Order: sequence, then structure tokens, then C-alpha cells
Amino acid sequence: MKAKISNPLAVFHIIRYVWRARRPSTLADMPAVVDTFWLRRGYDALTFFGVIVTPSQQEADMMNATHGGSGHRQADGGGTAAAAARIVREAAALKRHEMIHLRQAQATGDSWWRFYRLYLRYWLQGWRQRRHHPNAGYRLNPFEMEAYRHMYDPQYLDRCRDGANGWRRYAALSVDERAALYESTRTRGR
Ligand SMILES: [Zn+2]
Repeated sequence: MKAKISNPLAVFHIIRYVWRARRPSTLADMPAVVDTFWLRRGYDALTFFGVIVTPSQQEADMMNATHGGSGHRQADGGGTAAAAARIVREAAALKRHEMIHLRQAQATGDSWWRFYRLYLRYWLQGWRQRRHHPNAGYRLNPFEMEAYRHMYDPQYLDRCRDGANGWRRYAALSVDERAALYESTRTRGR
């Protein structure tokens, strides 16, 4: 692997995150932190035991400035108002995406371990389809399908305060059915 390791000690962060993890239902928000070691290139953010891992400070600051709810704080910096508004909207959507994973963890027995165990199981189901669908373990994962579907809905987090269960509908489908659904929403566009 040619990737630059910016902080070799970052390997210990994983233990710290897991050690300090609290039950999903006790978290009103998740802090965004920078960890270029753990975050795979090409991903914007990753929820890990109650912490949102991001690849840059700018990304972390944007995520920490929003709750993913319907109210937004103002973005700093230059650019046109429309461009700034778009950046804020995207940051809020990304934050909401990660917060949906928190709500899903509430719905899997309020346990991060159970959530990740199920996540891994679904990831492996999708991974078997990797020849037909790039990044299938991720894209055809019911948890991701729910998060992508609702990340632009400002009311979604309020509606699933006690746990997000939309993933169950996708989990009940076969992987082929999930793939067909994914393709149909993709071609329709957002
Ligand atoms: Zn996700």
C-alpha cells in the first residue's frame, strides 16, 4: 500500500474509540474527528462507535457545525452565497447520514457491537456481488441504503428518535433485489 501514514500512533485511536464508546441511545450528537489513517480514501466520513471519523479538519469542522437537523448554521468562507449554501447542505446531509447510523445502532439492541456485526454480515452478502456491482458490500448494505435514501430529508432524524428501522425493509430483500432497487434509484437520480 502506497498510502501515506500521517500518524502511525493513529492505530491506537481505534482502541480509544471502542473503549470510550457509550450506548447509542445516550448520544444526542456525535463529534467529528480527523483520522487520515483509518479513513479509506474516497469516503467522506465514517461512524465508528459514536465518533464520526473524517479525512480532514475542514470536513470535521463542517460536520461539527451542523446537527443534521432542519436548522443550519451559517457557513464561513468566500464563494457565492449559492455555493456556500450548497456546501452547508451537503455537510448537513453527510452529518445526517452518519446520525442515521447512530439511530440504526439504537435499533439493533442499542449496541454498537450488534450493529457492526450485522453491518459486516450484510457487507459480506453484498461483497459476493462485487463482479456485477462496484463497491457492492457498501452500496447494497441495508444500513447504507437507508442512510443514502434519507440523508437529504431534514426531518428524518426527528422521525426516528427511538431508532431507525428502514434498513429492515432492505435486509428482507435478496441481494439481487437490493441491487435492482439500487440501480433503479440511481438511474432516476436524486
Ligand atoms: Zn454510511
